[in-house]
Amino acid sequence: MAASTSDGGSVKQSNNSTSEDTEPSTEEFCPGFKDVDAFVKHGLGAVVAATKASACLPQAGDEFDFYRSFPGFQDFCAIQGDRLLQTMSQLMQHYGCSSLMKDRNKLTGLEDRFDLVVESNDVVLEKVVGMAEQLPLMKPNLVFTMWTRWLCVCVCVCVCVCMHRLFCKELRNSHRYIYLCNKERPEDLDVPAALADFIHQLRTQEHMDDMFSHPYQYELDHLVMPQHLGHKPEPQMYKPLAETSCKFIDTLEDLVALNEKLAKTTEFAVDLEHHSYRSFLGITCLMQISTREEDFIIDALELRSEMNVLNESFTDPTIIKVFHGADLDIEWLQKDFGVYVVNMFDTHQAARSLNLGRNSLDHLLKVFCDVDSNKRYQLADWRIRPLPGEMLQYAQADTHYLLYVYDRLRADLFDAANGQPSLVQVVWSKSKDLCLKKYVKPIFTEDSYMELYRKQKKSFNSQQLMAFRLLYSWRDKMAREEDESTGYVLPNHMMMKIAEELPKEPQGIVACCNPTPPLVRQQLNELHQLIKQAREIPLLKVSHAERAAPFGVWPQLSESTLFGPHDTSHCSFNRQPITETQLDDMRYFGFCCLLKEGEDADNSGHLTVAQQKARNITDSFENPFRMYLPSKDIHISKNAKYDPSSKIYEISNQWKLQSLEQQQKEAQAKRQAHEQAKKHNIKYMWQKRERIASEAREVTPKPNKVMKREETPIASNKQSEDSNPSTAFTPYDYSQSNFKVFTGMRVPF
Ligand code: AMP
Ligand code: MN
Ligand code: ZN
Repeated sequence: MAASTSDGGSVKQSNNSTSEDTEPSTEEFCPGFKDVDAFVKHGLGAVVAATKASACLPQAGDEFDFYRSFPGFQDFCAIQGDRLLQTMSQLMQHYGCSSLMKDRNKLTGLEDRFDLVVESNDVVLEKVVGMAEQLPLMKPNLVFTMWTRWLCVCVCVCVCVCMHRLFCKELRNSHRYIYLCNKERPEDLDVPAALADFIHQLRTQEHMDDMFSHPYQYELDHLVMPQHLGHKPEPQMYKPLAETSCKFIDTLEDLVALNEKLAKTTEFAVDLEHHSYRSFLGITCLMQISTREEDFIIDALELRSEMNVLNESFTDPTIIKVFHGADLDIEWLQKDFGVYVVNMFDTHQAARSLNLGRNSLDHLLKVFCDVDSNKRYQLADWRIRPLPGEMLQYAQADTHYLLYVYDRLRADLFDAANGQPSLVQVVWSKSKDLCLKKYVKPIFTEDSYMELYRKQKKSFNSQQLMAFRLLYSWRDKMAREEDESTGYVLPNHMMMKIAEELPKEPQGIVACCNPTPPLVRQQLNELHQLIKQAREIPLLKVSHAERAAPFGVWPQLSESTLFGPHDTSHCSFNRQPITETQLDDMRYFGFCCLLKEGEDADNSGHLTVAQQKARNITDSFENPFRMYLPSKDIHISKNAKYDPSSKIYEISNQWKLQSLEQQQKEAQAKRQAHEQAKKHNIKYMWQKRERIASEAREVTPKPNKVMKREETPIASNKQSEDSNPSTAFTPYDYSQSNFKVFTGMRVPF
């Protein structure tokens, strides 16, 4: 880690330690530091500076998401992240710790790396204790200073991790972490914490078993339709667009003022603009709000972490929020701002209930307001700033007329229900259901690909379907890793085409994609291997019944299927997962056994149930000789999996046992390692913590003292910020320290 002073300047590099008021020591404690005091001061300064610097980086889940949606920033993060990991690796290696910090192959990398840091802390602390035992005459304060030195090392490593964390999209995009939406309820914050908790428990009693229940479930479940919706409204004409003030809000102050204004209204219209092409989870860029009098456009990128203040008016049950097509807006509000909606009216739902034929907003605007809305900015890049005037106008128009449209639709709903509020009630209820939607991160499961497959009209054979499945997994993995949308990595239609054509050559894959997506071009060989893998499985017809779960009898694929059969880079030590090739072998073996059974039975003239099934499979098996015969359309029965006499049952069970055993072993090993690391760490941390806490008050130098440039100890290693860490960073070998400095030395604090 590049040393720097806490005021942001770089430490002057020199091999000589000098001090203005003391004689240069002939015997340095370690190169560049005349005594322990100087070293500790420097260490603390470096830690403070690093912590400050990391705090200046775009915060995770905040501006960070916005920056990450730009490839330039991603590249920068990747390079800096690698440098940090390399430095950490060297540091750890130097102290004899396991240091595979640079293994980027797993989505869980960050978790594992953190475990490595915990382990390293353990090793370092053990060394401290060991060294302390070698110096029986040492004063307690000296033990402390030594400990501090090591602590500096540990803290530096931890800071590195924190910084690296910021460079990671892994956590955000992984499917292993739940998306934590803000569940704070502003109204609960006004009462004492214990009481708030109690109230919340009472409210959510029915949902206590589900800790991830909707925070406004109770309110929404008990919400009744506002009385005034029970009467046919007199539509209130909108103000001409040109005469309406449209305020652009990009400061917290203005946002708070807007929230206060909204809190006093009884209704307002809302819309969002979102960017989803160059980001895996997408990012909400703009929020438009209209009251009867004014329009507001909120810069949701600038105010991303502050948008939550709007939760107050958005969840106020006495205020109706009017949206058009709120399905995604509700999710985006949760995902990006932790904002929920209570009491909403969706004009899209109203249009549907009226059977208008076309339910889009531009159609409603044409019908009710005679406005030709130009939807050409719908898919514009809403991240750009400053927003061009045309885009701002477009955004304003999306909510400006909405309250009037809401009036007109309600009036029509009354007319359609013979003056009764029944249809309004239906729309309002449907809207309420939309508010109950919970944002969940896109999760990758073994069957995810089937959802997409079923939506397509194509009918694939087993090889094509396997290719589709492998491509789907590859695409998901790439999108998460690169923080891109799946559509950017490989659009659906191209993925279908590759799976359908099963190109034999890499160029064939390119031919299926026009224009070829950058990541496809970059990973052409990987994709080629996947297609090859798919071509190797037995060719079977996939019947319509099996479209539901065509590989139901097959063992589940692990993440390892994303890697080639000989690529073990993703495997942890001692772990031998069953490769896809092995799985295929097993499947093939299963088929062979069944075929053989069928043949034997043929000879004897008797067919057992299993043999009959085997025969059926044989018959449905498409090979060069049989594919021209009429197919009996018999497939592997799902029941075979549960039929103990079937070979498939045996194979399936065998695999299940193996994989279960494997999983148990892994889980146990991980638990043990984790507990041990935790035990050691907690033990040492607690032993030392009390003493340090009391000593720290006397010994911690005042920050300004540490931060003064001229007083900052001078590091011995010449470092350049741009230099390669492998050459720039050489950890000091503490075993070479001059321990004589400890004997009889006066502690200077
Ligand atoms: P709108 O509700 O029309 O203002 O759209 C809100 C956001 O939804 C836009 O900013 C787009 O990100 C997204 N969106 C709207 N229409 C489409 C579409 N046809 N395809 C993909 N995304 C869309
Ligand atoms: Mn919208
Ligand atoms: Zn819009």
